[in-house]
Amino acid sequence: MAIAGRFDTHEVTNQSPPFADIDLFALDAPLQEAVRANGAAQEAKALSAFGQRWGTAEMFELARRANAHPPELEAFDPHGVRRDFVEFHPAYHLFMAESFAARLQASTWRPDGNAAPPPAQVARAARFYMAAQVETGHLCPITMTRAGVAALAAEPELTTVLMAKIAARDYDPAFRPWPEKKSITLGMGMTEKQGGTDVRRNTTRAVPAADGYAITGHKWFMSAPMSDAFLVLAQAPGGLTSFLMPRFRPDGSLNGLRLQRLKDKLGNRSNASSEVEFTDAYALRVGEEGRGVRTILQMVQLTRLDCALASTGFMRMALAQAVQHCRYRSVFQRHLYDQPMMRAVLSDLALEVEGAVALVMRLARAFDQAASDPREAAYARLVTPAAKYWICKTAPSFIYEAMECLGGNGYVEESVLPRLYREAPVNAIWEGSGNVMCLDVLRALRRDEEAADFFAQLARQSASWLGDAGDLFAPMNDFESEAKARITVGKLATLAAASAFDATAPHAVTEAFARTRLARQHAALYGADEIEAPTGDALLQRALPEG
Ligand SMILES: Cc1cc2nc3c(=O)[nH]c(=O)nc-3n(C[C@H](O)[C@H](O)[C@H](O)COP(=O)(O)OP(=O)(O)OC[C@H]3O[C@@H](n4cnc5c(N)ncnc54)[C@H](O)[C@@H]3O)c2cc1C
Repeated sequence: MAIAGRFDTHEVTNQSPPFADIDLFALDAPLQEAVRANGAAQEAKALSAFGQRWGTAEMFELARRANAHPPELEAFDPHGVRRDFVEFHPAYHLFMAESFAARLQASTWRPDGNAAPPPAQVARAARFYMAAQVETGHLCPITMTRAGVAALAAEPELTTVLMAKIAARDYDPAFRPWPEKKSITLGMGMTEKQGGTDVRRNTTRAVPAADGYAITGHKWFMSAPMSDAFLVLAQAPGGLTSFLMPRFRPDGSLNGLRLQRLKDKLGNRSNASSEVEFTDAYALRVGEEGRGVRTILQMVQLTRLDCALASTGFMRMALAQAVQHCRYRSVFQRHLYDQPMMRAVLSDLALEVEGAVALVMRLARAFDQAASDPREAAYARLVTPAAKYWICKTAPSFIYEAMECLGGNGYVEESVLPRLYREAPVNAIWEGSGNVMCLDVLRALRRDEEAADFFAQLARQSASWLGDAGDLFAPMNDFESEAKARITVGKLATLAAASAFDATAPHAVTEAFARTRLARQHAALYGADEIEAPTGDALLQRALPEG
């Protein structure tokens, strides 16, 4: 029912009702199918409960507040003594508590820090994707905490002790030494002023001390600075090494992390990102000296998966808002939803989201099965950077297009669209920026026979959607050319997406995706590709059922 309200001078009509008090799972056919196809059908009821909770008007309002009131740094107390404390809005803490209750920070781990059995990854991926549709700033420490466990694997005893706190359901925001807390979060400090991608240029030094190491230096970006401990990289005598640096020393005094200031960011405003100096900060070594990069490698795969999941969530929310608005808004005596050109835009947007959802959920299954199946491990190695590249770089322009579907209302802060739009670029930048992802894929294709075989198999499979693919995929076989890497990786990601939803979506949807995104370069703008009317209708019903 459209909103109709009285005003002093006029009646408010021709507006869409708010997209709230909904079930984010039940309304999302591609998600439901992907969950089923990737082995998590038994989770459907619980996912629907999660979708209802996160889809409430209350949660959307809390998200608005958490972002309207960004965190503030209290570097000193009134007497000039260092506090290095960051105060967050209560709404941020409520989101942390919700995510902890759903164990988004730990559900893919067993209590000993080993991987939880399938479908832990797929089930968490579905929840993370829904949470990102509502509030994503708080998901930064959630992501870092769950991924940090992968790096801690190098120190099993330490992991067991920490897991008891990491895996708890009760979020504990107290600023106290971690052994005194019910639960803890982990952050990461890798990037320095002179290098983020190139962490081997880290200048921060680590000197062995009686009970650990003393670390001196800085980090140029260190998000979620109220985390209880941070995985940091520093130069030890044996080379670049990973460390775990708690906020408090073992004697209970404040550790030497001096927060300099918080970044004034484009988006991601509910989350704090700090610049920090380490002054003889106490830390424990994680893994061998000189093996720092190797130690964090598994962790980075997990954060990259979360970037792709979150950006898929942004696109899903932007699409749902656009479809909802167009169903209610009439222009020239016709709902926008029924105007042919708008329908072309909406169905093309829906097709993009279908591909992204299918791909990230298939990828989550690869993480579920990697330990027992080398082919799935190869899939995860190859497709994680490709999916992060493709999805995270697609999201900003996608959200802009969805915003325009709402006209002026989409540009205004009360709608969710401006926040999604500001949030989107960061997922492409952090955890390995676009070009770096492409270089990772090239490296895997060159070195990893299984990965290259998988790619060839995907290209062969494409014949079932496109007929004789001919030399369509020739540029992809140029694994040596860095200059062409974006072409190769874009094709790989779209091929993998088509393959993933070939198992779930109706054939016509796969065929439309392959025709508009594989057989040729997708048009620079949405809606400039022809999708047959019945397929367009099906896509929009799948995106948001009518009624
Ligand atoms: C909001 C926010 C929060 C952050 N939080 C954290 C945090 O908590 N912890 C942390 O450690 N870091 C954090 N970062 C830092 C982030 O991880 C880095 O900014 C990112 O890794 C890129 O590093 P850089 O900024 O040094 O850019 P650079 O490494 O200088 O890269 C600049 C550009 O060059 C490209 N490039 C690099 N190498 C090549 C190449 N060989 N060929 C072609 N192109 C190349 C990159 O893709 C990128 O586009 C955060 C960043 C942001 C924006």
